[in-house]
Amino acid sequence: MVELRDDFERKFKTLRVSLINTCNLGCVYCTCGTEDLKENHLLTQEKGISAHELSAIISNLHNTLQLETVRFTGGEPLLYKDLLKIVSSVKQLGINDLKITTNGLLLENIAADLASAGITSMNVSLDAIDEDIFYKVSRRSGIHRILRGIDKAIESGIDVKINSVVMKGLNEDQVLPLLNFAFSRNLRIRFLEIMAMGHLFGQSEKHFFSQDEILSLINTRYEFTRQLRKNSSTANYWKTEEGHIFGIVANESEPFCGDCNRLRLDSLGNIYGCLSSNFPISVRNVQKDEELTEKLQVAMWQKQTVKFTGSSLSMLNIGG
Ligand code: SAM
Repeated sequence: MVELRDDFERKFKTLRVSLINTCNLGCVYCTCGTEDLKENHLLTQEKGISAHELSAIISNLHNTLQLETVRFTGGEPLLYKDLLKIVSSVKQLGINDLKITTNGLLLENIAADLASAGITSMNVSLDAIDEDIFYKVSRRSGIHRILRGIDKAIESGIDVKINSVVMKGLNEDQVLPLLNFAFSRNLRIRFLEIMAMGHLFGQSEKHFFSQDEILSLINTRYEFTRQLRKNSSTANYWKTEEGHIFGIVANESEPFCGDCNRLRLDSLGNIYGCLSSNFPISVRNVQKDEELTEKLQVAMWQKQTVKFTGSSLSMLNIGG
């Protein structure tokens, strides 16, 4: 079997599966508000695919690509009713590196079951520790539920990391409180530069808070040194003098397209080779291996060589 790779030696080894295109938060950078949530909910009900079909698609992709990692995301993956079923079925395919990205609101009651089903690693998105600022960013309350969920996931043996999007004028004063929270629980935290996606496409500048600005803020309290970046990693990492690690996902300041190994599958059965401006490629009802390989080749051509260019697709649909 010929391994699919491009001129930059990039292969698809990590699959990000957006299980559902609805969410129980309304983050200002991700959706345009509750009206959109309602519309998207209808979309999922009418056109969404079953867990059985989704699992067959992932199995076909694995047969062709020999995937190493699957990350479940969304939308909010904990809203997907067959979540435990789909995690278990992917584990049965022999893929052991199973991860999930969640906002954590519903985590407390499902963390232990997720661990039993095979999830070993989890990113919890948390953009503020202060409840008022959390509300301003996510248009919902619930920070204490999220914190209880994080504790439960840690107790269940899951490796938890925190992801925080930093927006100028909105939550940059949460960088140090979030960092202190993560350090107090020995968790890795990654700060994300805002990406020009969805309704922010072409107008993300006013909220952009760069990697350098994040580092300057952290430097008012901590001394740190840069760590070597691992191949295909989305984040740059630093280590403080006290031995704590933090990261920054700097899509704009320090793009990492050059060794990207990610393929995305959305909740309607479309694949994408990149988050940047591109088009959905349906892999539903693909009968022959050659047909799937051709579609994967097209997805591979979508990969950017220099940097993320932005996309009018919201992260809600394509999966973060
Ligand atoms: N609902 C889950 C969550 O909140 O983690 C999973 C989906 S969410 C789209 C995945 C990640 O994408 C979150 O960490 C979120 O903060 C991030 N995200 C969404 N839109 C973004 C944007 N425009 N720029 C940067 N990060 C974004």
